[in-house]
Amino acid sequence: MDAAACWCTFAVFNETFEEQPFYECISCGFTLEKGTAVCGGCVRSCHAECRTHLLGRIRAYCDCGGGGGGSCKLVAAGAPADAELARWSEVNASSSGELDARLSIPYGEPGYWEERYRMNQTAGEEDEWLLSFDAVRAPLEAELRSVAPGDDETAARLFVTGAGDSPFSADLCDAGFVDVTSGDIAEVSVQAMRVKYAESHPALKWLVEVSWSSCWSCWSSSLSWRCLCLRMR
Ligand SMILES: [Zn+2]
Ligand SMILES: [Zn+2]
Ligand SMILES: [Zn+2]
Repeated sequence: MDAAACWCTFAVFNETFEEQPFYECISCGFTLEKGTAVCGGCVRSCHAECRTHLLGRIRAYCDCGGGGGGSCKLVAAGAPADAELARWSEVNASSSGELDARLSIPYGEPGYWEERYRMNQTAGEEDEWLLSFDAVRAPLEAELRSVAPGDDETAARLFVTGAGDSPFSADLCDAGFVDVTSGDIAEVSVQAMRVKYAESHPALKWLVEVSWSSCWSCWSSSLSWRCLCLRMR
């Protein structure tokens, strides 16, 4: 059940991903396809005359209030009084509900990834997830070099979990890291990566993971896909 707010949650949480019931507004183009959603207050006010659809409780922020352009009728009024916010928080914390089927992707099942990587191979594509190696290179390299044992800054033993078919592991190798092992629960992807990098990056090691090795928290958020999990082993 949605707490019946008459304020926009963007006025309180801004661009932080507070879990709450979110909706699509098909009429205004706030849709899952575009990665946008509107809050309960906005669906009852700004979009009262629109064609809307409950996505379920997800982590997002209200794109009606956050969209700029002044189209939101509520966000300018600001945050509610403390007592009102406390009541909303209480109802929100205890509410539950079905997720839209489009968000119920079985990320935890190896079969999902086997199928997904098989489709990638057929299409000649690869998944780069949220950020490429280049996008995180500066802070990541500094961190990895700082934890390397001994004098050799590239000697850190690295494990890239859930490596999928991303070129991330090869990029690490190109950056000079000599001991990189990569794993995934999808055997089809691991086998393909072994073959793909056998000649160009023979130092890379690949293994099939038998279970999620880390970071279940990454999966708790419906709209964010996955963080890049690198850890020392
Ligand atoms: Zn809103
Ligand atoms: Zn609308
Ligand atoms: Zn609004």
